[in-house]
Amino acid sequence: MATVTFFHAHPDDEAIATGGTMASLAEQGHRVVLVTATRGELGEVSDGLLATGETLGDRRSVELAAAAAVLGADRQLFLGYEDSGMEGEESAARPGCFATADLDEAAGRLAAILDEEAADVLVVYDEHGGYGHPDHVQVHRVGMAAADRAGTPVVYMATMDRDFMLDLRSRAAESDLATGDELDGADTMGEPGARITTEVDVSPWVSTKRAAMRAHASQIGEDSFFLAMPDDMFATVWGQEWFIRVRPEPLGLGDGIREGGLVVDAGSLALGGGVVREGAEG
Ligand SMILES: [Zn+2]
Repeated sequence: MATVTFFHAHPDDEAIATGGTMASLAEQGHRVVLVTATRGELGEVSDGLLATGETLGDRRSVELAAAAAVLGADRQLFLGYEDSGMEGEESAARPGCFATADLDEAAGRLAAILDEEAADVLVVYDEHGGYGHPDHVQVHRVGMAAADRAGTPVVYMATMDRDFMLDLRSRAAESDLATGDELDGADTMGEPGARITTEVDVSPWVSTKRAAMRAHASQIGEDSFFLAMPDDMFATVWGQEWFIRVRPEPLGLGDGIREGGLVVDAGSLALGGGVVREGAEG
């Protein structure tokens, strides 16, 4: 069994982007570790949500613990940075936030976790963090640096299939599916389909994924694009998760040829380009 570490920016990202994959790996008996960079302190907060003395970071930490349990994660921890808020806002430039974190220092924190776990796999985000949020871009930078430092043999970038999102947007426009403005940025969301190496069919775990999204009640309302759809539509929209394999080198993948799940054992691939972790036993 392998140890698969997912590195995310804020509480709820894990459920939305990789929840089905996490649940499927956990069900297969792999050790699933969830590292979240921030507590999402700058998320939206509706009036009357928080109790006296409670911060949004407190609430979202509780929600994340619940979501991680739903997904079957064996360990859930924070990297210890603060939410940067949206690009261009003052919050994204202040010290202590993840977007301005020193790359070496942040990568060192994550690498220490990867070492401690002897992680076989690390999952980060694509180069622009899926949609450009400064904390998501930083997940990519920090994650890649940490994987190099720890010698993690298998690295994936979670992303979205832009072609799928564009198609979804046009289908939504023709139907009564209320997407709000969630798909406005589909033209730049994720990566072109040709770049995707891995598409996980998570339809057997969509109800688990939906339950994990629901655990983030402060951020994902029942009337939101994420949850306000009947089960069959939910399965269509959320029944697959996309990744780009960084290493071992994805020979023969891409351009429409996709593997159906994460490789969790680099040694199982008969590839010359495989990476061997230094000092690894067995
Ligand atoms: Zn996020």
